[in-house]
Amino acid sequence: MSVRSGLSDKSENAPSRVKDAARGEQIIDADEWLTAIGQYAAILTYADGQLTIARTNAAFAETFPSSTLQSDDGEKALGEWAAKIQHLIASNRNRDSLELHRQGPLGPEHFLCRIGRLPSRSDGTQQYLFTAVDCTRERSVEKNLRRELLSDGLTALPNRAGFSEEIEDRLSHSIWPEKAQFGIIAIDLSRFSRVNESLGPMAGDELLITVAKRFKSCLRQGDVLARIGGNDFAIFARLNNGLSDALHISQRINEALCAPIRLSGLHIRVDCAIGCAISTSLEADPDDVIRKAQAAVKIAKGSGKVEIYRNGVLKEAQRRFTLESKLRDALTQGGLTLAFQPLIHLQTGEITGFEALARWHDPELGHVSPVEFIPVAEESGLIAPLGRWATYEATQALSRWDAKFGEPLPVGVNVNLSPIHMARDDVASMFEEALRYSGVAGNRLTAEITESAIIADPDKARKLLVALKDLQMSVAMDDFGTGYSNLASLHSLPIDILKIDRSFVFSMLEDRDKAVIVRTILSLADSLGLHVTAEGIETQELALELQGLGCWQGQGYYFARPMNEADAFDYWRARWNFETV
Ligand code: C2E
Ligand code: MG
Ligand code: MG
Repeated sequence: MSVRSGLSDKSENAPSRVKDAARGEQIIDADEWLTAIGQYAAILTYADGQLTIARTNAAFAETFPSSTLQSDDGEKALGEWAAKIQHLIASNRNRDSLELHRQGPLGPEHFLCRIGRLPSRSDGTQQYLFTAVDCTRERSVEKNLRRELLSDGLTALPNRAGFSEEIEDRLSHSIWPEKAQFGIIAIDLSRFSRVNESLGPMAGDELLITVAKRFKSCLRQGDVLARIGGNDFAIFARLNNGLSDALHISQRINEALCAPIRLSGLHIRVDCAIGCAISTSLEADPDDVIRKAQAAVKIAKGSGKVEIYRNGVLKEAQRRFTLESKLRDALTQGGLTLAFQPLIHLQTGEITGFEALARWHDPELGHVSPVEFIPVAEESGLIAPLGRWATYEATQALSRWDAKFGEPLPVGVNVNLSPIHMARDDVASMFEEALRYSGVAGNRLTAEITESAIIADPDKARKLLVALKDLQMSVAMDDFGTGYSNLASLHSLPIDILKIDRSFVFSMLEDRDKAVIVRTILSLADSLGLHVTAEGIETQELALELQGLGCWQGQGYYFARPMNEADAFDYWRARWNFETV
């Protein structure tokens, strides 16, 4: 299709101002109409497949001078325009709009154009009024906004949405060998929130920028790095040698973090967890591969090694996701309960207290073990509301037992405290409030903490423990022996009880090494003036052995399994005063 500039045949239809005597009105000349239109305007004619610019106003002529329209480039541009306009004309609609683009001297230019049918000329030639508005500015603002929407302001890398677009772009616009594959490598920076919490968000930002730079240096041509979440990065990689390419990049990522990062005058080591997923073909949905890599990285966080997505990993991730959303509902809708397991004084057989253990029965999932849901709560931030709920519920249970009995029971309750909850919440005020609301004396409440809570931040832990002692509470070190507390720190912390982990207790009669550990812990506790509770006592033989070794307190299925609040009260009332081991 060709276009003729008909500007020259103006004289042919030379305008004449004629007085319409019959109506007494002046017929206005077409050029005057065009001039009156405050936009680029032209009259186009269309006959025999030929589109002609018949007349224009000055603005049109200036912006689309006929010389540019005739030039090679212009011709091409106009050719495209004409094709679009012709398409519109062929649609037989009376008016329509379209957006046209051309390459201007300062970059791409955009015009919002309208075209409307005019009465045909007497010779049958169709006429159209064409108007255009320059919308280059709007398009450039939109483009910038879009760029902002698709990139991360801090590192200038694509964000999650930008990552998908970049991948689509790479997949559709580069030349790929046959049977090519691509991989997604998901990277989760460990300890990032710790940096944010302890050194402040500015240092956190600096860390992210430095890490992004280091990751960038691991990329090969055509790979894309993106920041797809707070401390989550991802790489899209072209794989020429399948898995081995992905592992090679993962190794480089790990090496990039080997050298410590200087932050606020400190040298900080950061680690990362890496999960990879590999597409089966180039037709694979990139978002699906990203999700699989994210599932693999979750597993890598636990395993400490690079994980490759396997079928089933997604199932685990989905299960975690389901658990998280159901746990959130359970917490707000009272779906959790506490079970109480008796703590027995091994020398007298008295019940000295109960350990409060969270229980969750979901209508669809059935019974979910705390071994499964506590880590989910810790990962999702639900551990603080869960820990608060458990503390309030445990002190309320004590006060309900007291009310039932008519006076305070000579027993206390142990509450488990997650190290993550300890780090994130004002736990001292939580205990203070729980005690105040329930009217229970502080010396009936024991906080069970784990060694990792102390290792993470010893000073903070010490301050908290001192605050708990001020409330007259006791502090027990749970699962003792499984972590790596140094004994010196134990001595300097206000800890009252060591709870020897079940893994040492249950096999100590058969396993000499375990027996030696238990004896060592008992003598260590003795010299530090600490009480010891043995967990996981399942037989009378074990109970008697530990009694013989001078262990203070025991807990385990031999005495009782965890039970509900009412049963725990009945258990205590049936046995108090006359129990023997
Ligand atoms: P834990 O604090 O060491 O609690 C003792 C666990 O050992 C409980 O498991 C208890 O049921 C189990 N147990 C007690 N005696 C025996 C025995 O003789 N044999 C065997 N095989 N097991 C015994 P449970 O209730 O499944 O809780 C597991 C862990 O979940 C707890 O270990 C604790 O770390 C955590 N947990 C439970 N409830 C809470 C909670 O409210 N908050 C927090 N932060 N953690 C909790
Ligand atoms: Mg415990
Ligand atoms: Mg324990």
